[in-house]
Amino acid sequence: MESLEKSKYNIFVFLQEMIKMIPLHTLYLLLVALINAFLPTVQTLAIAEFVNRVEGAYGGVSDIQMVVIPLIILLGIVIFKQMMPSVTNLINVSAQNHLKIVLRNRFMKKQAVLQYRYIEDNESCALIYRVCEKAENRFWTGYRTVCNGIELVIKCAALIGIVMQASILSGAAILLVSVPLFYLAYKTGKQNYVLQKDAVEIKRRYQYLSKILSDRNHAKERTMFGYSKRITEEYDRLSDYANQKEAVIEKKRYANMKSGSLTMVMLAVIIMLLLLPALSSGKLSNGLYLGLVTSILNLVQGMSWNLAGIMQGTADLNAYLNDVGVFLSMEEKADADVEPLKIPCFQVETIEFRNVSFRYPGREEYVLKDCSFVLQGNKCYAVVGKNGAGKSTLTKLLTGLYEDYEGQILINGKNLQEYRYGELKWMFSVVFQDFARYALSFRDNIWVGNVNENNVQLLEQVIKKLELEACVQELPGGIDSTLGKLEKDGVDLSGGQWQKLAIARLLYSEAPINILDEPTAALDPKGEAKVYEMFWQVNEEKFTILITHRLGAARMADEILVLDQGRIVEQGTHKALTELESGLYKEMFESQRCWYET
Ligand code: ADP
Repeated sequence: MESLEKSKYNIFVFLQEMIKMIPLHTLYLLLVALINAFLPTVQTLAIAEFVNRVEGAYGGVSDIQMVVIPLIILLGIVIFKQMMPSVTNLINVSAQNHLKIVLRNRFMKKQAVLQYRYIEDNESCALIYRVCEKAENRFWTGYRTVCNGIELVIKCAALIGIVMQASILSGAAILLVSVPLFYLAYKTGKQNYVLQKDAVEIKRRYQYLSKILSDRNHAKERTMFGYSKRITEEYDRLSDYANQKEAVIEKKRYANMKSGSLTMVMLAVIIMLLLLPALSSGKLSNGLYLGLVTSILNLVQGMSWNLAGIMQGTADLNAYLNDVGVFLSMEEKADADVEPLKIPCFQVETIEFRNVSFRYPGREEYVLKDCSFVLQGNKCYAVVGKNGAGKSTLTKLLTGLYEDYEGQILINGKNLQEYRYGELKWMFSVVFQDFARYALSFRDNIWVGNVNENNVQLLEQVIKKLELEACVQELPGGIDSTLGKLEKDGVDLSGGQWQKLAIARLLYSEAPINILDEPTAALDPKGEAKVYEMFWQVNEEKFTILITHRLGAARMADEILVLDQGRIVEQGTHKALTELESGLYKEMFESQRCWYET
């Protein structure tokens, strides 16, 4: 797997995209941030004017009515501060709703066209989850952090500007202390982010344990194995540990805030003292002095609460944007989202693996090494081999999920990679070991096997062939009953019925090549052999590859291929392979014989 570290999705790209996705919301928040940023300055000047004019009126220099204007401005500021949070709350909700639609759409599309290797890789999967989970919230919170940052910087700069006009020394003092204070807060913010990431990871683990302890899917095993007590202990241990970590973060944050605010209070006192000469020389009016003191104290209060939060938010945003960048630059599969594309008059003649070698991305060892074999279109095959021999990998290569193999795979003599991906989708129908159980109606569970077809007759035939009629009749809503546990009235099927339903999808599809990749692994060997027997009977006319490590079903195939150490070591009929003096198939068959004898 290539490095998941590099990313070009920086804060500037992020801001551009935010403006594109939700221009009005971003503009609103920026405006509010700017107004908030300049508010202390306006407030300072208004207080100054107010005090000066009141002084003037009492000294008989000016008219008391002159006091009205700064008073109106101060009133306006109060009203704005009162109103703004509720309007902003509404905007927050609306912005996230908009983002949810745009981002979900975009991220889902990206996920749908990703190269298959990412889906199977744990690290990539975790990253995709981190990016897509509540993306709208992460984007909006990130943007708010940026606006808060802009607001704080402007607030400080404007205040420093006014102070500098009265006393350069005081302005320089604020600047001198502010810069390291910002830096310190950024470092603490980053440290907190790392600590929090650990805590989130632990939380994820104990939340999973909580799921095991409470959800329906684990109920049977929970009762049978009686592991609840042990898992509860582990849950308690992990949640205590996560709480301790969070307590450390809180303590750090608090200490950081308090030390920050203490420094700022000291700074405020120093500034007030430094400004005294300017006040007594008349360079600074009483009003402006009072206004400045009020604003500095306000800023101190705001800084102590906001600075660490903004810095932690920035570290969080940076890490998130890095993940987003990696996700968006993940390689896509051409045509990945196309619908199956029928090839007119197509019939399977041969499928050939010619010296195929393959290893999974990032792995040293080859799963297939110089693997060669030919399958004829008019026969049914079984591929057998021990667990981990590479049987499923064969399916993944044949169906085009992985393309970076060495050697050639040919269908009817034509290189697999020369077929369009839509054509391959049409060509193959596979039932995997971990086949899906869709929480859809019984009918739709079969229909998804061929979404281009709405053939009621074929559907009925398939149900009949697989002896599922009684099962349908017993369902409360017949064929339209919703299956699964997602809905309150959803009906659950037995394991065997779900398996048949997965096979029904395959029969309903018009794919000329059928692959069964151990979908019956959950059944006992005899049960499995029975299902396959039925499958052979109902699906004679289609080219089928059956993959299994249990040989009961393989016997029914026209030919058996034995996969071992990355290559086909034996190929022939059951009879021919068991008549060999020695061989892997014979050995496996002998050791499994007792599974099938009554
Ligand atoms: P089989 O179907 O014969 O049981 P598989 O084809 O599933 O075997 O796996 C063959 C080998 O490849 C195993 O060692 C397995 O661990 C490894 N493998 C399977 N999938 C992946 C993957 N996505 N990434 C890395 N290794 C894998």
